Parts: sequence; C-alpha cells; structure tokens
Amino acid sequence: MDPLRLLIDLHADGDRQGPGAAEETLRAASLAGLDGLDGGRALRIADLGCGTGAASLALAGALGARITAVDLFPAFLDELRRRARERGLADRIDPVAASMDALPLREGAWDAVWSEGAIYNIGFEAGIARWKRLLRPGGILAVTELSWLTAVRPAAIEAHWRAEYPEVDTVEAKRAVLVRHGYQPVATFVLPAACWTAHYYAPMRARWPAFLERHGHSDAARAIVDAEREEIALYEAYSEHYGYAFYIARVC
Ligand code: SAH
Repeated sequence: MDPLRLLIDLHADGDRQGPGAAEETLRAASLAGLDGLDGGRALRIADLGCGTGAASLALAGALGARITAVDLFPAFLDELRRRARERGLADRIDPVAASMDALPLREGAWDAVWSEGAIYNIGFEAGIARWKRLLRPGGILAVTELSWLTAVRPAAIEAHWRAEYPEVDTVEAKRAVLVRHGYQPVATFVLPAACWTAHYYAPMRARWPAFLERHGHSDAARAIVDAEREEIALYEAYSEHYGYAFYIARVC
C-alpha cells in the first residue's frame, strides 16, 4: 500500500485528524457570534478539510447548523456519514468530496467558512484569499493555523517548521494577513495543549498497534508510525514555542 493510503488508513477511524476539541470549536463559534439561527433559518457553514467531521458534528449538534463538509478523501467522508447517522445529524451534514482549492460551492452564500487543521494544505494566505468569495457579506471565517507562540525559537524547531510549512508565523503576522485580504479580525485564541495531546496524539498512538498489525508491520507502515512519533516528540520538546491558533474574522 502506498504511503498516502496508509496515512488515510491510520487516521480514518480517528475522531479527528489534527489538534482540536469540540469545546474549542464551540468557543470559536460563540466568539464569532454564531449561536443559533440567523433570522429564523439554520446557519449554513462550509467545513473545509473536514476529515471525519469533528468540527462539522460539533457545529451541527450544538448550533443546529447545516454543514457542507468537504474533504479530498472519500474514506474520511464515509466515516463522517457513519458518525452523523449515529448522532442523528445526517440530515444536517452534507459530505462533498472535493479539493479545497477547487470548491464546487456557491459563492456569497455561506454564513461561515470553517477549517480546523487543514488550511495549510493550500497555505493560509491562498486559502483565506480564495475562500473569501464564498462568504455572504458579514460572513465569518474561522480557521486554525500553525503559529509561533514565542518571539525567539530554538534553531531546531525553527528549522523544522520552516522546512515543513514555510508560512508558519506569529499570531500578529497572521492577523495582519487577514486584514490585508479584507477581513476584520474578531478574535484569536491559542488551542490548549490537550487539543494536541489528549484529543489527537494519545488516541492516534492507541491506534498504532492495530494499524501495524493490519499492514503486517511492513516497512511502509512502520515509517508512517515513526514519522508520527517524531512529530509527537517535537511537540513534547517545543510546545511552548508553537501551536495552533484559532483565527476568527469577519469579511468586510
Ligand atoms: N478538520 C479535521 C481534519 C484535519 S486534517 C479535524 O480537525 O480533525 C486535514 C484534512 O484536510 C484531512 O482530512 C485531509 O484529508 C484534508 N485535505 C488535505 N488536502 C485537501 C484538499 N486539497 N482539499 C480538501 N481537503 C484536503
């Protein structure tokens, strides 16, 4: 099996495919003023790079919002469908297999564009620029993005993220990018460490033995686990210097 299929297989039965928590999703919604109906109708939210739907399920469940949940990989959307049915939310969540840089979505129609741990796939600046036209006037953008939390970083972690994600920057710099693209920042907060450890890394770690077993401990499967282990070690060593910040902004 090729590395991409293996990566999907490791992550497809996870609650989430990146750092986050339902509580933080709902905190962002509340800071954005999205707390239920808009003039008597359900909010329409596009969740881009939804994975197995952690944010979609939270928003549909708590706000009664109608979610269009977009991901590139159908295996994640299948799992999202299953979860939505299980929670009685299937009629509020519409899964769509598409790429976030070629979205088959109506423009000017969305109350909010949501994206947790996923905008990096096309880059923060390209994403916010492209997604702006989806929003209705006054619509909300809510995304999490890898950000520096300190002004001075050890060379090892600086070099790692510069190589992996050249757009990594401070929270202030990211807010400036939002302003440059015609957004008005509403709120920003840093995801607590438990979003990485308890909600993402620990459950993923617990899936490693079954994953390795399924793939006969192949070199390729072990390489995937080793790469994840390395990412976790970096977080354990340097989490004071980087994290995910939630950026909530309104389209002007
Ligand atoms: N929002 C989810 C998943 C985050 S992981 C959560 O918080 O748990 C990033 C997600 O982006 C994965 O599900 C991956 O399949 C998806 N993805 C990667 N490239 C994409 C693209 N070009 N278009 C849409 N989704 C993409």
